[in-house]
Amino acid sequence: MSIVVLKLKPVKRKTEERPKKCPACEGETFQRWGWVTKPVKDVVVKQVKVYRYRCCHCHHTFRYYPEGISSADQSDRLKQYAAVCWTLGLSHRSVSVILSGWQVRLGHMSVWRDVQAEATDRNRHNQRKKVRVLGVDGAYVQGWGDKQPVLVGVDMGDGQLVALGSVDEHDPRAVRRWLTGLVKQLGVSVIITDDLFSYRKVAEELNLGHQVCQFHVRRWVGRTLKELRETVPKNWLWILDEIDQLMEVLPPQGDKRLYALWKQLGVRRAGRDKPRTPLEQLRDLLWRLCQAWQSYCTFQAEPGVPWTNNATERAIGRMKMRARTVRGYKTWPGMHNGLLISGTAGV
Ligand SMILES: [Zn+2]
Repeated sequence: MSIVVLKLKPVKRKTEERPKKCPACEGETFQRWGWVTKPVKDVVVKQVKVYRYRCCHCHHTFRYYPEGISSADQSDRLKQYAAVCWTLGLSHRSVSVILSGWQVRLGHMSVWRDVQAEATDRNRHNQRKKVRVLGVDGAYVQGWGDKQPVLVGVDMGDGQLVALGSVDEHDPRAVRRWLTGLVKQLGVSVIITDDLFSYRKVAEELNLGHQVCQFHVRRWVGRTLKELRETVPKNWLWILDEIDQLMEVLPPQGDKRLYALWKQLGVRRAGRDKPRTPLEQLRDLLWRLCQAWQSYCTFQAEPGVPWTNNATERAIGRMKMRARTVRGYKTWPGMHNGLLISGTAGV
């Protein structure tokens, strides 16, 4: 059994440490200027001692808070705790009820603000993050009376959701715009996606390494081969066996073999208006695999690149589970924040 431990931020009752810089003028010498007792909303600490200081340079006076305390009524730890409870599936009101069991009175609107603040924190953290391998996938979440398409980016290093865009994955230009900014910001060099054409195009344009999730590929190729086995003339069935084997082994030179098979088959299209014959379908399959082949094999040469996009799908799963019970998001930024921390495995 594995036990996951929730790490909350520490809270100090007081601090003897002195401020380093004046918030007004950046002066570095201070006089103590009395102290106050500040009541705090927290599960353990009920009040803290806060010293006031006076800047020797500009005479500005200010409070210097102990670790985990700010000018807010709640401790940093309580904000974090409220956000985690919400992420695990409680409504804002239920979080408020849970906290009342610890004699903490926190209104549901405060909980909402805490969730938003945690997301802002998370965003800031993500913007500084370096992500070499990024999993990208599209999903739909319940939005404003309708399903909203979103595009998610997951750090394949730690499985954390790092970016979320209000973008439809079937729109190559929108995908390109979103990914371009992200790649620059995070320093991405490889993306993992399913095999939609729009992703391959973007990867080429942005000069990114590209791994197509083999889970997806095997599913559709397996289905196509099964259909073709019923319809392709018997003397060509060996090609299906060979495709099967290539998919199983994924040799880096597989595209050369696929190209040779494509030439050997040598059927021409009967005409645009006619339905494709089974052999034409087989030929199209060979061509499609041949074109995409290198993006099936990237994981063999690049360390740290997985061969499926499972981590991204898990993040989407977490996000969707939470999104089912999310109510009352009126705007994309609000929804973005909620979904972002839902997709983050904070615990
Ligand atoms: Zn000063």
